[in-house]
Amino acid sequence: MENFFTTRQKICLGAITVLLLLNIFIWQQVWILALPRHLKVRVLDIGQGDSIFIETPSMRHIIIDGGVDAMVMSKLHKLLPFWQRHLDVVMLTHPDADHLNGLLYVLKKYKVDYIIWNGVVRGGEQYQVWLTLLEKAKKQGTKIIITKAGDQIKNDKVAIETLHPFINIEGRDARPKNEDNDTGIVSRLTYGKNSFLFTADVSSVVEEALVKGEATLTSDVLKVAHHGSRFSTSENFLEAVHPDLAVISVGAKNTYGHPAIEVLQRLQNFGITTLRTDEQGTVEILSDGENIKVIK
Ligand SMILES: [Zn+2]
Repeated sequence: MENFFTTRQKICLGAITVLLLLNIFIWQQVWILALPRHLKVRVLDIGQGDSIFIETPSMRHIIIDGGVDAMVMSKLHKLLPFWQRHLDVVMLTHPDADHLNGLLYVLKKYKVDYIIWNGVVRGGEQYQVWLTLLEKAKKQGTKIIITKAGDQIKNDKVAIETLHPFINIEGRDARPKNEDNDTGIVSRLTYGKNSFLFTADVSSVVEEALVKGEATLTSDVLKVAHHGSRFSTSENFLEAVHPDLAVISVGAKNTYGHPAIEVLQRLQNFGITTLRTDEQGTVEILSDGENIKVIK
């Protein structure tokens, strides 16, 4: 048998096999690209914390917060092609561990075009690593943006507008307890007629200020603030946002008692469908610009 194929024939056969496999792979990719595209917003199941991964119809990738540890990486590995080493936007709403830590792993692996955050000062080792990674990214061409209300990023028909902080708060000391949550970035994503409101961990103090402000709050989907803490998601705010769907990013059996019974009750009173990452796992929402659909 060993003389059946000459070495030359073996090389030819090998090359043909590789070409055939490559051909199948390329056609598979062409087929994927030809599929109708939706906006995909995924509130990732990363335990106690926040991490939201957005894929736009033109295949831009945005991540808002990274959760408390490396779990976000296994989620991204499943959602992105294995060769992808690039993300368009990384947003850190505020540098608390349950939003920041996972992004440190993200920044070590992915090259990012824009990093958006609030620029506040925190203590702790992870915060120092964040600053070092920002410097490194900047040297590699990443644009670092300290955002404030009115700023907008836009691609195709998808836009994300910052609603809070109201002013640039770069350098503000967010170390005193309870100061940090209310420095968080609140942003509203729109795609056609659909809209999503991301509220970080802000308390009802910020929510009330937003209600009194001029920005449009009405949204189809609300990412409930601060993992369902009882100090957020006030009735006034729910009335102003008027969402059909609320998503709570929360860890199972967390020690904070999140989400609060009062918040769940308020959401129910307003007739808002509420999904929780501790019960449903990752919550995936599709939008075609007209309607939203939850993928089960
Ligand atoms: Zn949090």
